[in-house]
Amino acid sequence: MPQATAKLNAFPVFMRVEGEVVAIVGGGEEALAKARLIGQSSAVLRIIADAAEAELLAFIAANGAIHIAAAYDAAHLEGAVMAFAASGNEALDRRVAEDARRMGIPVNAVDRPELCDFFTPALVNRAPVAIAIGTEGAGPVLAQMLRSRIDRMLSPSLGPLASLAASLRGTAERLLPKGNARRRFWSDFFGGAPARAMAAGQLSQAHDAAVDLLLSNAPASGHIALVGAGPGAEDLLTLRAHRLLMEADVIVHDALVPETIVAMGRRDAERLPVGKRKGCHTKSQAEINALLIELGRDGKRVVRLKSGDPLVFGRAGEEMAALRDAGIAYEVVPGVTAAFAAAADFELPLTLRGVSSSMVFTTGHDLKGNSLPDWAKLAISGATVAVYMGRSVAAEVAGRLIEAGLSPDTAVAVVENASLANRRRFHGTLADLPSLEVRADLTGPVMTIIGDAVAGANFERSEPLAAHRHEGAAQTAAEGAER
Ligand code: SAH
Repeated sequence: MPQATAKLNAFPVFMRVEGEVVAIVGGGEEALAKARLIGQSSAVLRIIADAAEAELLAFIAANGAIHIAAAYDAAHLEGAVMAFAASGNEALDRRVAEDARRMGIPVNAVDRPELCDFFTPALVNRAPVAIAIGTEGAGPVLAQMLRSRIDRMLSPSLGPLASLAASLRGTAERLLPKGNARRRFWSDFFGGAPARAMAAGQLSQAHDAAVDLLLSNAPASGHIALVGAGPGAEDLLTLRAHRLLMEADVIVHDALVPETIVAMGRRDAERLPVGKRKGCHTKSQAEINALLIELGRDGKRVVRLKSGDPLVFGRAGEEMAALRDAGIAYEVVPGVTAAFAAAADFELPLTLRGVSSSMVFTTGHDLKGNSLPDWAKLAISGATVAVYMGRSVAAEVAGRLIEAGLSPDTAVAVVENASLANRRRFHGTLADLPSLEVRADLTGPVMTIIGDAVAGANFERSEPLAAHRHEGAAQTAAEGAER
């Protein structure tokens, strides 16, 4: 059911203040807060305070504000385009408000809404872009929360990008017919190569890319971001990953990335699962590469979303090589890899002074050959080992490491669904590890960490692996492949 939209009692507008006087009456904290807020604009600040506190004096000096060091008089408001009654003294604030109103100057009295003609917003400043947040009576805590949330969503480069847009607007209007062509240009400008160059701090490249876009009739070139989605928890996504997700036309994601994260993309983005999981339509790596190239050639902004970090057992190498060969622009956004999430869940120091000073990321799948891979030697010399996709080779990993000389008593920590609410933790020794392979109750992704540093973990919330050893051994068929 559509709800009737509630009406605003205060309507937001942007008031021109460049070179205009804004008067602030008061010498304490309240006046300083307003001075800081208005000081984000190019208005001329006139501060009327016979006894200004040191911090306000410092602000006045640093910002070239005008200081009238005298007892307040209505004449001090003369010529101002707005006034603030911020003295902290009720009688004085009331007087200021009445004077201002009489003189036709809109006035705001701090903490006295009944005396206010206007309210000041919480401000997200990316000059020339401003986002003003008003909450009327709901209070400053809500406003500040919204402010920081919106602030995180917006790239710091939005300001310079908007300035560049402003400088090109006349040219764009002359060169491009109104309607689709112009809209398309601006959408490519704010979402394409100029925006990316600006985000990388390359002002002149951003300008050149914009001019290229203006002069060529070619469709915008696509761009693929290989983005780490982290281990599963939504708030372990990086801010950059979140921003790219919200800008993407298409999201190509693996099965391990939870729906809640894929859903953080734009509502109208196309979502293409290419996941490798039972029961799912799966694509071969070659098909995925071809799909990314095709989307790039179509001019799409694509987020290729991979669990954890894209460069750790994510086949990113193959995708990057294919994109490079095809001449499609791409970038990589790191993510929190599963080993780090599992270690955090276990409060497990991956390096531990005097115990372990190196760590290994491995799959254990290379232990099946005859020769011992390098990492096994590292494990024996004390490295902490994180085993990805290790459930189906748990017995092999344990057996080979013990055979090679690692103590069967070496500590082992296992986390299923690291970072997620339904995570499970298990601890034990290398000798217990084979039980993993035959457990039917582990259906989520599993991370195994082996090494003496594991002994430094917190085992309060974990179950012993050994408890399942015999029960597990009785089960016959191991569950299907986990990859
Ligand atoms: N690029 C990913 C790894 C992909 S390989 C990363 O950096 O994390 C897939 C393997 O990662 C799984 O078999 C499992 O071993 C591990 N994994 C991924 N997410 C996990 C999670 N939430 N908890 C435990 N292990 C996880």
